[in-house]
Amino acid sequence: MEAGRKLCFDVGDWQTFSAAERGARRVEKRSRPAEILGFELADEIADSDLHGFLDRRELAAHDGRLKLLFLLWCQSFGHAARILLHPVVVTLACEPLRPIALATIPAHTRAMLIDHHCHLNFPQFAEDMAGVVGRAHAAGVGLMVTISTRIRQLDELIAIADVHETVFCSVGTHPHNADSELEIPTTEIVRLARSHPKIVAIGEAGLDYFYKKSSPEGQAEGFRRHIQAARETGLPLEIHTREADDDTRRILEEETAKGAFPAVLHCFTGGAALAQTAVDLGLYVSFTGVVTFKKSEELRRIATEVVPLDRILVETDAPYLAPEPYRGKTNEPAYVAYTAAALAAARGITREDFAAATTTNFFRLFTKVPQSAAAKTEKA
Ligand SMILES: [Zn+2]
Ligand SMILES: [Zn+2]
Repeated sequence: MEAGRKLCFDVGDWQTFSAAERGARRVEKRSRPAEILGFELADEIADSDLHGFLDRRELAAHDGRLKLLFLLWCQSFGHAARILLHPVVVTLACEPLRPIALATIPAHTRAMLIDHHCHLNFPQFAEDMAGVVGRAHAAGVGLMVTISTRIRQLDELIAIADVHETVFCSVGTHPHNADSELEIPTTEIVRLARSHPKIVAIGEAGLDYFYKKSSPEGQAEGFRRHIQAARETGLPLEIHTREADDDTRRILEEETAKGAFPAVLHCFTGGAALAQTAVDLGLYVSFTGVVTFKKSEELRRIATEVVPLDRILVETDAPYLAPEPYRGKTNEPAYVAYTAAALAAARGITREDFAAATTTNFFRLFTKVPQSAAAKTEKA
């Protein structure tokens, strides 16, 4: 800290100052106390070319002091991997100038993270695919699986996976589109799944009673076909289930009785009973940025108490469901680090251990993905 540079943030603009200059400059008092602050960076962060911004999170009086206000996100072009990921210790100060709180952004860990569920073919990413993949690597995300929502658009996914070594894909029909792809038989899903080395999963398929964009019958039929495809190919099924806990449990139990199949309940937002059923049936349960939301206490409890460490996965479901502190913005695979950090904290283990566990789980489930494909994301 002592060798660090001081950054002073001044209402939407910032400048860097050397340690020697620290204290020479007081931040001018502004009308809102949140605008009065300074912070220091660990020395590894100090670098010319720093670009950063403060993301305002919370401002609350606490014992007469100001509580945690901001998270800091730093980026240095040219050293993105190191700068972006280093734990940044932020010392917030207010009037009178004194440290009042510490905050960190998710630290880079030597253990790799994997985003097993994102949608890189969606238009949000069309202009900046290389940037998205590069930022994921920089954040320690070594592999991504871009998930199919329409079998008829499989070519889009293969095109992305062909270009980016660390991107794999799935084949399947999202429950929203189930009715419109019911003429595609299971044999065709199986054939496609085996047609390309980068197709490593089935789905996403399942039940969505929240939007009900397809009929419940069509969704159930599609769900069972995808289960059969997973059973035949040994590729994991990415299960989408929303507001459909009871029917999902029933179908999973009926289908498992016919023969086991590998699967993960992706973007889990259901109840404890569904999570318990999945665990009992040998399936995996995966969490998105939703677990970072303040009100998701029950979900964090499920992720901590119901799902064992050897069955848990993390994902983004990007471009949707960005974790805090990006809630409401476009999500991207790099941000899976925030979800992992929140779950590690909830479980009381290190990010390193949590990342290692989820990555081990990924390779146990996604058997077609060669471990050698992962980006080298370790710190230099
Ligand atoms: Zn989904
Ligand atoms: Zn999805």
